[in-house]
Amino acid sequence: MSNIINDVLDFTKENDVKFIKLSFCDIFGSQKNICITSEELPRAFKHGISFDASALKGFMNVEESDLFLFPDPTTLSILPWRPEQGRVVRLFCDIKHPDKTPFEGDGRHILKKAIKKANDMGYVCKIGPECEFYLFELNEKGYPTKIPHDFAGYFDLGPFDRGENVRREICVALDEMGIIPESSHHEQGPGQNEIDFKYSNALDAADNLITFKSIVKSVANRHGLFASFMPKPILDKSGSGLHVNISLFKNGINIFDKEIKESYGIAQSFMAGILAHIDEITAFLNPLTNSYYRLGYFEAPKYITWSCQNRSQLIRIPAAKGIYSRMELRSPDPCCNPYIAFALIINAGLDGIKNNLKLTNPCNLNLYAASFEELKDIASLPTNLRDALQKAKESNFVKSVLPPNTLKKYIDYKDQEFEAYLYASNKETIEEKLYFQ
Ligand code: ADP
Ligand code: MG
Ligand code: MG
Ligand code: MG
Ligand code: MG
Repeated sequence: MSNIINDVLDFTKENDVKFIKLSFCDIFGSQKNICITSEELPRAFKHGISFDASALKGFMNVEESDLFLFPDPTTLSILPWRPEQGRVVRLFCDIKHPDKTPFEGDGRHILKKAIKKANDMGYVCKIGPECEFYLFELNEKGYPTKIPHDFAGYFDLGPFDRGENVRREICVALDEMGIIPESSHHEQGPGQNEIDFKYSNALDAADNLITFKSIVKSVANRHGLFASFMPKPILDKSGSGLHVNISLFKNGINIFDKEIKESYGIAQSFMAGILAHIDEITAFLNPLTNSYYRLGYFEAPKYITWSCQNRSQLIRIPAAKGIYSRMELRSPDPCCNPYIAFALIINAGLDGIKNNLKLTNPCNLNLYAASFEELKDIASLPTNLRDALQKAKESNFVKSVLPPNTLKKYIDYKDQEFEAYLYASNKETIEEKLYFQ
């Protein structure tokens, strides 16, 4: 580790780096940061940088408020949109107590535990998120409006598609920050876009997603636009999802590869575990009252089913082969905390493997066109945040993954959010608040 630290310190000297953003997420997945000068970086590596954890939603109480940020030297990235001289770099941090033990509520720590559990069982988990977002116009005061940047649809070209320059700049910035962009396109909704980047190990995938969101926001802003990751910003248009593509490698072999019969059964148990626990973890994958307007419409799932064939299902198995074999979980949305979401998904799958769960038969219906008769025995996802929270509260599985304090704080806060939404005479006001996500 100390070699990597020395490399980072050398890099900052050689590249005229003046400021370091120490970055982390609160339990709701909002990125937070503190900026230090490069002279302070050696101290940050050695002793950590303290912060008032009681001031952040869901972390600590006032009685025990001191936590420390320890930069992870493997996460160094230049922020390409900041000045060339006196450069700004970003490092993700691990959060620790004053005695240097990990803070249990740190999402990176929770995800690292899930990754270790998979490793201990002999698996390396790979994740590739696909993130959708809307581009909206700003008003004369610079505040976001609900006017989409264009009125193009799926895969459209310019000049209908007015997002191509923004997407190109996002891809260039991703590349400069060490994230490999794979493809980008206009999505179904007006002003809606998708950019996919290459899959990686689970921790990098979560870090990359946080980086991706800040790149999108910054580039959009430079173009005089507002990027929204809200799951359903326009009620009668396509919602924004975060499809989570997952595979597991054992001794270098992808067990989602159907050709290898012996190990594919384990992949099926992994999927069965996710289907078994999905309703208990939905409050974390779909964290906003607004999330539930998305589920069930425009290719977003509602029922707890899987299929190889169509996009109305919760789990789709794409036709890709070999190392690209994977499952795609289609319910999560971009407002989730990806560290906590991935940790819960991985644990759910591993639980399926441990208990040798059998995968149910595929559901080869188009669930949007199916009749009431065909649908009546199919279990569905929670249909609102309150029901999702109730499932989480009753879940021993969730208790086995999330520390009690984090779980309680998350649920209490989200309960309040749901109450506020329920009793608001003008739901738009609440929606507007969420709109800034
Ligand atoms: P879709 O057909 O659902 O639109 P995309 O091609 O847009 O799929 O995105 C697929 C995502 O899956 C990409 O992020 C890609 O890197 C990722 N991916 C490819 N192979 C794997 C794998 N073995 N494990 C996890 N993710 C993968
Ligand atoms: Mg895609
Ligand atoms: Mg899409
Ligand atoms: Mg797609
Ligand atoms: Mg997809």
